[in-house]
Order: sequence, then structure tokens, then C-alpha cells
Amino acid sequence: MAQLGKKPQDEASHRRSQSVTSCVESVKGRSKRTDEANGKSTQRFDYQLLLVAAKEVDPHLAFNKYILHGYRHKLTPMQCILSVFQIHNETGNIWTHMLPIAFFVSHLVLHGPWQHAPLFYLAATVPCVLCLTCSSIYHTFMPLSSGEKTYSTLLFIDYLSVFNVMVWPEVVSIYWSFYCDPSVKLFMFVVYFSITVLCLGLALRARTVKERLLPFGIQSLARGISLIFRMTLGYASKEATLLYLATEFLGIAGGMINAMRAPESIFPGMFDTWLNSHQIMHILTAMAQFCVFYACQTDYEYWQRTSCLDVKRWKVLEFL
Ligand SMILES: [Zn+2]
Repeated sequence: MAQLGKKPQDEASHRRSQSVTSCVESVKGRSKRTDEANGKSTQRFDYQLLLVAAKEVDPHLAFNKYILHGYRHKLTPMQCILSVFQIHNETGNIWTHMLPIAFFVSHLVLHGPWQHAPLFYLAATVPCVLCLTCSSIYHTFMPLSSGEKTYSTLLFIDYLSVFNVMVWPEVVSIYWSFYCDPSVKLFMFVVYFSITVLCLGLALRARTVKERLLPFGIQSLARGISLIFRMTLGYASKEATLLYLATEFLGIAGGMINAMRAPESIFPGMFDTWLNSHQIMHILTAMAQFCVFYACQTDYEYWQRTSCLDVKRWKVLEFL
């Protein structure tokens, strides 16, 4: 199967001519060869990444039947790393989650943790960075030659990191949503952590796509109910509430677009490299992570300047 490798030049050419009939596409990549023109045995390195069509790749890599070309296949770890800087059908998925990591790291470097709530700052940022990192690793190393078992392990780690990012920023949200009602806050924490433990159990036992989505659905429902309570009590920051709502909207929209496989299901093959459903979901979920971070930050700043003694309650209808 076409892949990065150390091949003599004539063999590489032969492989390229074969690719025309076997739907194998080649882009600039790497091969190792002898520099015969100089009569020396020095070796020159070219980087040659050969891409294959969906019908030639292992089935676990071609899970989206509307992505027809541009697959990497059976690469070594170094070849996977080099492929990050080349164009294939995972390039967009890798970079749409690698670049947002820079946002969180630069925010930490430039502004540091919140002075009066450093642990909440970590709860609002570290899970985001972990999720984006695990996703980038999964998309980078998914074509490893070690096969489906390695792929499944990477996918599972990526999945758990998504679960993790759904849990911790919500803890910050609950704390500040019910800041002036300790008994309500305690009740919400007990309910929320009970639901989270249940969902974690379901997530660890999940084997199918439906089973994996179930904990996300339950967690989303719990966050939705918490948001309704927050809006009903009506004394937490309005601006932060809007950002929490935007977070949920972006997350749900991303999940739906990914499930519908749109737009590639309408034009199969046209969105192999850029702007397919998974990339759109990546962009929307990265935006959701920015939103939830700024929601937590807005809450933090609000309670730094507001006392429970002088909070002004707003009404849900007024808010809407
Ligand atoms: Zn992804």
C-alpha cells in the first residue's frame, strides 16, 4: 500500500506511474536515495507522502464513506509527524485543534491564572487544552502501521478528553451560578457529580457510536437544566449566561453537522480535504471552548465586583 518509505528513485517512479491506475495520489513527501550524479554515496532525503483512495485504505480509517480520497495509510510515527505539514484529508482536522491550543497557552503566559480563583482558571482551561491536544494526536497518528488496535486506543483517549472538557468548566459555572445560595449550590453539585459518575461509567463501557453519544447527551441535559435554574434565579452575570448558551448552541450544532456528514454527503468527494463535516465540527467545538472559557472569566470578574448583598435579580423574560 502506498506510503512514506525509503525507496530507490526508479522504484519510486514506478510506484508513481502505478498510482494513476490504482487511484493512489502522491504529494511532495520523503524518500531516501543515493546521489549518483556526484558519483558519491551521499544520501539525499526527499519527503514523499503517498495518499490512497478510500477503497484502498483499512476500513477503520474510511469511516466516513463520503470522503473518497486523500487518505494516509500505514505510516511510521515519524511519518505521521511529518504529515502534519502536508496536505491530506486529516490536515484540516489536525490544525483546527492545534491552533486553538496556542490561544489558551498564550492567555496563560500573558495574563496568568485568575488571582483570586487559580483553581477555577485551571478547571476552565486545562480540560480544553487536553481535549484539543488529544484530538490533534488522534488525527495525526490514526494511520499508524500498527493498525486498528492503536487507532482504537487513540480514539478512546480522544473520546475521554471530550468527556472531561464537558465536566470541569461546568463545575465552575455551577459554583458561580448559585454563588449566593449555598444550599442550592450544594444540591446542584451533588446532583451534577452523581450524573457525571453515571456518565463516566457509561462512557467507559461504550462500544458503539450510540453508546458513546449517550453520556454526552445526558451531560448536555444536566448542563441545560443547570442553565435554566441559573436563568430562573436570575442574579448571575447576564453576559456570562449568554456565553454559556452560545457554548451549548455551538456544541450541539457541531455534533449535528458531524452526525449528518454534511456537506460531503451532498457532494461526495468534493470536501475530502477542506470544510467537511468533521472539520466544521472541530471549528465549532473550538469556538465553544473559547466561549465557555470567556463565560467562566466573565463570571469571575462579575463576582469580583458584585456582592450577594446588592445583587440585582433579573427576570428570565427580561433576559430573553
Ligand atoms: Zn476530530
